[in-house]
Amino acid sequence: MPLKINEIFYSIQGESLYAGLPCVFIRLTGCNLRCAYCDTRYAYDDGTGMTIPDILRQVEGYPAAAIVEITGGEPLLQEETPALVDRLLDQGRTVLMETNGSLDISRIDSRCIRIMDIKSPSSLMESYNDPNNLLRLAPHDQIKFIIGTPGDYTFALNVIKRLPPDFPRSSVLFSPAFGSVSPDLLARWILRDGIGIRLHLQLHKLIWPNVDRGV
Ligand code: SF4
Repeated sequence: MPLKINEIFYSIQGESLYAGLPCVFIRLTGCNLRCAYCDTRYAYDDGTGMTIPDILRQVEGYPAAAIVEITGGEPLLQEETPALVDRLLDQGRTVLMETNGSLDISRIDSRCIRIMDIKSPSSLMESYNDPNNLLRLAPHDQIKFIIGTPGDYTFALNVIKRLPPDFPRSSVLFSPAFGSVSPDLLARWILRDGIGIRLHLQLHKLIWPNVDRGV
């Protein structure tokens, strides 16, 4: 069965611990959430059906495809996503998958690096977080919080207290919500509290501030 693909593009990885490296992005169509700050609304419905061999052929056509990120929308909504991840892993690629944390992440091969975006209160989608996903994380996975208010920051501090003991604090990313909390203010909170987590800025938005798609 084909996957519904919104876009496939090649760019600099702007998020995660892989930021700065060339990466092929596969954006899947569809999302079960409607976050207040969503910047990828264009991926809710628009897309084209592609088989896994079609997708692999396109990935292979880029100059560097050692790192591939599957994103959305919400990739776990599509039945064939685990099979696509398996095929990319079997080709020896580093595979990242960005997920909104509302669906069971254990459906994805544990060799994949799952980047789980935990929804803070200002997203208005906090109730959709699956708390069991915290226990499904592997030490090589990453989690991300978009911080838009002081309440979001306190919420994130409380969530990280429930992480498995072997999950590295340096793989917890706090990202300021654009236009709500400045990077400077978030940096000062992190330094004040000495919690060992990582300040995270969206590199692609610094490089290409006026480009919304394909970067
Ligand atoms: S989970 Fe991501 S794609 Fe879905 S509404 Fe939230 S920000 Fe947008």
